[in-house]
Amino acid sequence: MSQSLTYGFHGDRAYAQYYKHTGKVTLLGIVAGVACGIAAAPLLAWVYAYADSYIPIVYLNMALVVGFGAGIALAVAGPMRWGKVRNAPLTLALTMLLTAVAYYLCWAAWICVTFDRYAKGGRNFGFVELLLAPRGMYELAAILDESGTFSLGHGSSANSNVTGIPLMIIWAIEGVAIFATAFLVAKSLGADNPFCERCEKWSAAPTMLAPLAIGDVAEMRRALEAHEWPALQTAAAAPIDERHFWSLMLGTCGSCDELNLLTLNDVKITLDKNGKAQIATKALVRNLRVSDADVAAIRAAVAPPVAVAAEVPDVASDEDRIDAPADA
Ligand SMILES: [Zn+2]
Repeated sequence: MSQSLTYGFHGDRAYAQYYKHTGKVTLLGIVAGVACGIAAAPLLAWVYAYADSYIPIVYLNMALVVGFGAGIALAVAGPMRWGKVRNAPLTLALTMLLTAVAYYLCWAAWICVTFDRYAKGGRNFGFVELLLAPRGMYELAAILDESGTFSLGHGSSANSNVTGIPLMIIWAIEGVAIFATAFLVAKSLGADNPFCERCEKWSAAPTMLAPLAIGDVAEMRRALEAHEWPALQTAAAAPIDERHFWSLMLGTCGSCDELNLLTLNDVKITLDKNGKAQIATKALVRNLRVSDADVAAIRAAVAPPVAVAAEVPDVASDEDRIDAPADA
């Protein structure tokens, strides 16, 4: 175990068993994220407002909501990632802040679009004027809530517009969905991917070392944390259910041997009603730090037995076939 203390964070930071961002922030990353977010917010707001107003298909409206949330998150968290900000709370906070800005701009743009489209004689207020008058914006939204701007279903008349509380609920769901999408996209960009401090770069995508047979989760987690690799050997040798198994993943820097992160995923494969495979993955152990020597031991533990007898694979498999009935 003494060897496992030679990696991890150096300096004044305590040794951490699991990977965690150092929290380092770069000025370039912050400036780039905020600048791109400010540039993207009005653009996204107007595109969303027009598309939302003129597209009558509910599914496309839902796609727009996701696109709007993902768009603002990409505009903020993307440049922050490029600028090597490895501080997830900051990335998430700035993304949420600029999502709020974009959402506010979007309301103003949408009210303008709606009045241009439906109000007789157009509108007597400008976009910027509206932005500076939140109270007026609220009152105009209340008017639109009373009259409604769309109806659900086919062939309905203007009288069947969705209004009042049902419309407010739809607006609330729309708002929550925008913020939730932005949060998830920012998290995947700024939090979920480890960073190699030695090479100053984001780690490569993890690769699968081996599928493992399902066993006791708590026991496997304990064994991995204690670096007891024979537990992996047992799980790799056991018969594997192709529909439900564990997947042992290794994430590395890709350039140096400083960063070796072990992840154990629970993988469930089900078929939907169209016969298409649906893969559900849940991390049981995420980014456990291991040394370079550990990686070699882990690879050996999960290697299929035939690899040991690589020079005479036919003989080995023949022997297996002969042995099997004799044992039974
Ligand atoms: Zn590296």
